[in-house]
Amino acid sequence: MRDVIVIGAGGGGAVVAKELAARGLDVLMLDAGPAHAKPDTDWTQLEDDQNNLFKGALRWGPSDRTKTGWLRDTPQPSFINQVAGVGGTTTHYFGNSPRAMPGVFAGYAGADAALYDTAHRFPFRYDELVPYYRWVEAILPVQTAAMGTKEAAFFRGCEGIGLPVQTSKDITRDAFRPQENAILQPEGWAGRTNDPARLQYPQAKGCTFCGHCYQGCAMPRQAPVNLKAKRATNVSYVPMAKTADLWMPGGKAITLRANAFVTRIHTTRRNGELEASRVDWRDVRSGQRHTEEARVIVLAAGVVESPRLWLNSDLPDPNGWVGRGLTEHAFDWLIGVMPYDTESSKGPASAARADFPGSGALENVGLTPGIQALASNFSDSGIRGAYDLGLGETGPWTGKAGRAVGRELKDMMGDVNRLLNVLVITDDDVEAQNRVTLSRIFPRDEHGAIPRVEIAKRQRSARTLRNRRQLAEKAAHILKAAGATKILRVDFPPFLLHLQSSMRMGLSADNSVLDDQGEARWVKRLYVADNAALANGYGGVNPTLTTQALATRTAEKIFQKYFGGEAWVGREGPISSVDDRVTQAVLARGL
Ligand SMILES: Cc1cc2nc3c(=O)[nH]c(=O)nc-3n(C[C@H](O)[C@H](O)[C@H](O)COP(=O)(O)OP(=O)(O)OC[C@H]3O[C@@H](n4cnc5c(N)ncnc54)[C@H](O)[C@@H]3O)c2cc1C
Repeated sequence: MRDVIVIGAGGGGAVVAKELAARGLDVLMLDAGPAHAKPDTDWTQLEDDQNNLFKGALRWGPSDRTKTGWLRDTPQPSFINQVAGVGGTTTHYFGNSPRAMPGVFAGYAGADAALYDTAHRFPFRYDELVPYYRWVEAILPVQTAAMGTKEAAFFRGCEGIGLPVQTSKDITRDAFRPQENAILQPEGWAGRTNDPARLQYPQAKGCTFCGHCYQGCAMPRQAPVNLKAKRATNVSYVPMAKTADLWMPGGKAITLRANAFVTRIHTTRRNGELEASRVDWRDVRSGQRHTEEARVIVLAAGVVESPRLWLNSDLPDPNGWVGRGLTEHAFDWLIGVMPYDTESSKGPASAARADFPGSGALENVGLTPGIQALASNFSDSGIRGAYDLGLGETGPWTGKAGRAVGRELKDMMGDVNRLLNVLVITDDDVEAQNRVTLSRIFPRDEHGAIPRVEIAKRQRSARTLRNRRQLAEKAAHILKAAGATKILRVDFPPFLLHLQSSMRMGLSADNSVLDDQGEARWVKRLYVADNAALANGYGGVNPTLTTQALATRTAEKIFQKYFGGEAWVGREGPISSVDDRVTQAVLARGL
């Protein structure tokens, strides 16, 4: 019997695995997708090769790319951007690592307290999470983003509308700032040349400014895997977990199995309570089925698969909140056509932001051409101005919202480096109708009933819709102040790359699945440690740092409650994933 089984090696799961391995527990981590262990040789920088939904290296599907991806049932126009495999969706992510807004936590008494989703606050205070933020920020590490021309343009726009600059990691007022991100700062030749011969480690270290964050970061070439620029968990937490016996006195290396799809969580009844006891998993390549027992099981399969697995396991759902209350930040996208070069396709994909407590956030995002075209055309309002259906809101942008076609699209896409994009990240409400269930339409696949993901975009709460509209207006004003000659508002349908709160922790047992420790209310020894555990949309910033801070706290709670251990955060100094001891361990183990 294992001490702990972690299901899912993505943003949250890998954190629990590494933390408990460092405490000497016997941890098995199972991930449904590929190992993503050798970005240098396994990945390219070709947009279609990496991202194609049906056969790309980063997709929701099996590691054998000749096989079809795994289906989800989405009744509305929407796009779920999740990745199977070690690292999970952090292989795609941009590394932006802001802290959540303090106003979404219990006990918040600021003047703006009423502006948040007050019915669904976190069940503990913001202050309690801060030491865990610091711990994760040191491990990844999180640094102030390297910046270039597009960020300078975005900041000019922010100053132009009178926003002050924020210098604290704690978000307390409307302000702009460089991102705090989990991408190593450039050193040596990095960021100074496009010459591939010079962009090899150790001549180049950190971010090379290649602009390919979305494609999965393999830069700088030849760097030890734990020194890749973008700190996706396959290059940060996972190598640490696999070598915990070497860099941590008393640590124990985890066992990691990729291509291991968990299909059921079993329970036993002890002292009148239901307890998680073992999991069934299927080897995706051979089709063989296995069972493993553990003292504690941690569910971290992501916001869609965690509730799917719960429901397929016939675990209890007495209040109907398993899968419910999904938040997704009601994204939108504005594009400024600029009269000058923005170098939008270079550098970290997103290195500048503005935050608006109570409403959400805006990010400057630069993309490579294929992804820029995708983002520009993904509209819920159809072709700009072509329909008389009441679609296409007007506002401080050019004409009606919608997607550009024909000459307008050609002119815009003619030079991505003359564009300045702003992503709208709405602080959206936990709303019961937005949810993950099991599909009754599509047949089961080899891993059970498939998930159905429902987002009623046009029936969102008045607060969600108001926040989204206000942020779109602010984005347009920023672009105008930065000199845009044309501003397009695309009006995204649900673009699901920030997904959270489908197995939410909460103050009330009436509308939450987890207690304030991250343990399932109705199944003891079962914890949730991915974005699904988040209590709400945490103010409309990026999720992963908060999930990782919470996962660290959850690991401590598990260690204390079931293994008689003591808390460590705040008592010890963290060892960073780029520390020499970790690099030596990674090299010694041949990772
Ligand atoms: C383009 C893009 C950019 C982003 N940028 C940012 C950013 O800058 N900052 C930020 O904070 N967030 C960002 N995100 C979001 C970020 O990727 C997620 O917040 C994070 O990955 C979520 O972590 P998770 O553990 O919930 O899920 P995931 O990272 O998706 O991990 C879930 C894991 O579980 C595995 N799994 C699923 N089902 C099973 C099963 N049944 N058995 C075994 N394994 C299973 C999957 O293979 C996967 O590895 C971005 C996302 C995208 C798509």
